[in-house]
Amino acid sequence: MNELPAAIGPTTTAVIKASQRLTPETTDEVRHITLEVLDPSFQFSEGQSVGVVVPGPHDFGNDYHLRRYSIANARSLPVGTGLNLDILVRRCFYVDEISGERYPGVASNFLCDAKPGAQITLSGPYLSPFRMPLDSRANILMVGTGTGIAPFRAFAQLIYERRGDWKGQVRLYYGGHSGLDLMYKNDETTDLAHYYDEKTFKAFRALGSRPLMTSSQALEQGLHDHAAEAWRLIKESNTHVFISGLSKVAKVFCKVMAEQAGSEAAWMEVKERLVEDGRWSELVYD
Ligand SMILES: Cc1cc2nc3c(=O)[nH]c(=O)nc-3n(C[C@H](O)[C@H](O)[C@H](O)COP(=O)(O)OP(=O)(O)OC[C@H]3O[C@@H](n4cnc5c(N)ncnc54)[C@H](O)[C@@H]3O)c2cc1C
Repeated sequence: MNELPAAIGPTTTAVIKASQRLTPETTDEVRHITLEVLDPSFQFSEGQSVGVVVPGPHDFGNDYHLRRYSIANARSLPVGTGLNLDILVRRCFYVDEISGERYPGVASNFLCDAKPGAQITLSGPYLSPFRMPLDSRANILMVGTGTGIAPFRAFAQLIYERRGDWKGQVRLYYGGHSGLDLMYKNDETTDLAHYYDEKTFKAFRALGSRPLMTSSQALEQGLHDHAAEAWRLIKESNTHVFISGLSKVAKVFCKVMAEQAGSEAAWMEVKERLVEDGRWSELVYD
């Protein structure tokens, strides 16, 4: 690879330890990829993302291609010489509006095709708006769709596996076009279900009730069903809201909360207070 520009910042090498498809063949491919970062001084916090640098040359004369992926696991002690880091990657394609041709997204296809043993270059970890509160009495409201679940898996691991003394209420509102889209809780893997027995954890997984419903529409439907509980928690002064995934997720959540608040203006007042207090964070990408 050509020398990387200084703007990328320091990079580090990671080895792919495992790559598991989380979705069946009949739907979009999403893979859970476990990396071992070889430098034991590499540190990250739950909620951060890393950059994946794909060696070039690429189209349009680009020497490198860098895309960000949310870290999907909580910090742990280094394993041997390295450190485990999980990412959740959807294989992306895009259609050229002029030619109508379908092109594979560079980084997501590079990652989904990579086999165990392959070495990749990471940048970051990057500062993130997502920060887990230190006070274990805090309520955590996590709202997302698709691969937006990645930081929430890290949060759940931190709360229930690393800390183990969480007293606040933890809620996950997660929408999927169908059951196949529910990462970590479908026929392929039930990873997140490990926490269902925890008395402070409740997950509300909403599925599209009509074939063409999108994940965001399913989330809206599911949020409606549990709006009163979300609203009750929102009004508590120790509740932190985390929104992750497509930018529509924030719009859907605000729409449902405005109905609970009685008007858009009343909701905006509540939301502004959450933002001012540092209890509202969004990590969205389209
Ligand atoms: C903070 C953050 C966290 C993220 N976390 C995750 C995550 O956990 N999991 C995940 O799967 N994704 C995540 N993403 C999205 C991810 O970074 C990538 O954007 C995604 O994987 C697509 O990258 P790609 O290189 O495969 O596609 P690209 O090659 O970059 O193509 C992506 C899009 O760019 C446009 N495009 C690119 N090239 C062209 C072209 N030649 N002509 C026209 N249009 C073009 C198209 O609209 C296409 O859809 C995150 C993004 C951010 C910012």
